[in-house]
Amino acid sequence: MRLSQSFSKTTKTIPADEQATNAKLLIRAGFINKEMAGVYAYLPLGLRVIENIKTIVREEMNGLGASELLMSSLQPKETWEITGRWDDAVVDVWFKSKLKNGTDVGFGWSHEEALMVMISKFVKSYRDLPLSVYQFQTKLRNELRAKSGIMRGREFLMKDMYAFSRNQAELDEFYERSQQAYLRVYDRVGLGQDTFVTFASGGAFTQFSHEFQTVTASGEDKIYLDRAKRLAVNEEVYNDDVLKQLGLNKSDLEEVKSAEVGNIFNFGSAKGEQMDVYFTDEDGERKPVFLSSYGIGISRLMGVIAEHFNDERGLIWPEAIAPAKVYLIGIGGDKVAALGDELYNLLTGNGVAVIYDDRDVRPGEKFADADLMGIPWRIVINEETNTTGNYEVKGRTEKSPTFLNKQALIEKMSGAK
Ligand code: ATP
Ligand code: MG
Repeated sequence: MRLSQSFSKTTKTIPADEQATNAKLLIRAGFINKEMAGVYAYLPLGLRVIENIKTIVREEMNGLGASELLMSSLQPKETWEITGRWDDAVVDVWFKSKLKNGTDVGFGWSHEEALMVMISKFVKSYRDLPLSVYQFQTKLRNELRAKSGIMRGREFLMKDMYAFSRNQAELDEFYERSQQAYLRVYDRVGLGQDTFVTFASGGAFTQFSHEFQTVTASGEDKIYLDRAKRLAVNEEVYNDDVLKQLGLNKSDLEEVKSAEVGNIFNFGSAKGEQMDVYFTDEDGERKPVFLSSYGIGISRLMGVIAEHFNDERGLIWPEAIAPAKVYLIGIGGDKVAALGDELYNLLTGNGVAVIYDDRDVRPGEKFADADLMGIPWRIVINEETNTTGNYEVKGRTEKSPTFLNKQALIEKMSGAK
């Protein structure tokens, strides 16, 4: 990406109503654009981060044997009436509209019911199960408040996965494996240390669901955390009985603020029974399909990462999800520009994502933007590079640069992430 030709620009102008650190930084750095409260557009750099997070999540979901699909945003009322979840008194985040002929439609805020209706057409016998599918989809929710930037959108990107099992044991086994896959996701995006499995309310069917909560002052949740056991309890289910049941001691728990970056649910056979989705087992007996569902807030995750990794100069992306690995700066005349072009081609040719700041602006502006955008490595080429053959390289959080010749530089940058 050559910045001279790029769409995104860093800016000093932040919408007056924007309070959240993640959104302020991401807007300043040119990653997102605020359309209205709780609604953001993802600009090229922001989209790269989203895509990098999606790649990690996709790898982990595929590893579970799940297949990717894409459900519709427009949802028929009938599907959600089966379980009573069409009712605004039951689900208070629906956006709803009407077709020209008066037919009610809702905008998908989750997709359990839609998937159940769909698989009832494909699943007839025990041989058709188990099955798991997932999607990356823009969910629409009419949230009461939207003051946390991209951590709470009225329109946001979610990965939602649904598993269909023949019995509780099969469901539990998948649930357990998914939990491990989720922990790997948070680890790979750089939040492993501060993300904890958390017991939370389970809804109508089970006592608990499991949330994945990242400790952050910007979070909207409060959890009670046993750091040694790496387990937490959401305040919504926190009481003496629950602690006893989970074998946790009040004295070992810290009260911390956190952001829910994932939530997984065990519906058992309840949805199958409720929605009349059955299969025929080996003995010819009719059995309800067991459902479990698994959500990750992809865009919220990006917001939490932005909150978690920054300093007074700007964002600090973990390499695995950074929009580029290298920010390349040339300072000088034609010879420097030629060296810059050469290195840009060499690096990109070796599979390294580079932001090449080839703009005709002051060096100070380039340095400031490199830091603001939070690109892991900064390479500077100047007239000296021409004579010494050494390139200046500095990590985003390093105090001072090192100097490498071209060969060593290419090797260092194209090495494993
Ligand atoms: P919250 O309690 O924060 O409102 P939720 O429990 O309603 O979230 P789920 O239905 O469990 O959310 O959705 C799965 C995941 O989607 C959540 O764990 C969260 O990471 C993300 N998510 C939910 N609502 C939003 C939102 N409004 N904006 C961004 N991400 C969201
Ligand atoms: Mg939740």
